[in-house]
Amino acid sequence: MWTSCAAGHAHWGRHGAAGLLLARDGTALLQLRAGWAHQGGTWSIPGGALERGESPLEAALREAEEELGLSSDVVDVRGTFLAECGGWAYETVLAEPLGVVHTRDRAESDGHRWVPADDVDALPLHPAFRKAWDDPDGVIRAFVAGTSSAAA
Ligand SMILES: [Zn+2]
Repeated sequence: MWTSCAAGHAHWGRHGAAGLLLARDGTALLQLRAGWAHQGGTWSIPGGALERGESPLEAALREAEEELGLSSDVVDVRGTFLAECGGWAYETVLAEPLGVVHTRDRAESDGHRWVPADDVDALPLHPAFRKAWDDPDGVIRAFVAGTSSAAA
């Protein structure tokens, strides 16, 4: 559901939104949004609106399962990045995989791959993810670049 923030923008998710950024070996797991979805044809992380009473972490893990079939059992949360806008918030959950990750394209996904941090800039990114990725503090970029190989 669309909602407006105090700055007058339209944002998706009445209670805010969240996404899961899984990174390993200097790469980030990105998803190509299906053509029919909002901002289809752009790359982003699995994520979406918080449901009533749901925490950002719960929402991020639920969306990752719904969109990429990712089991929360393999997700090791390392931190979060909060982007606020006029009282509305999008929380990016920063995580590394525990062991082998199995993914498949499900709802709203036309593909996914592990993208090296240096290659993310060149992709057509979803505007919200672009904004988070290009944040002046570079929190997400630094997190991805600093990850090492997962024990597999
Ligand atoms: Zn706003």
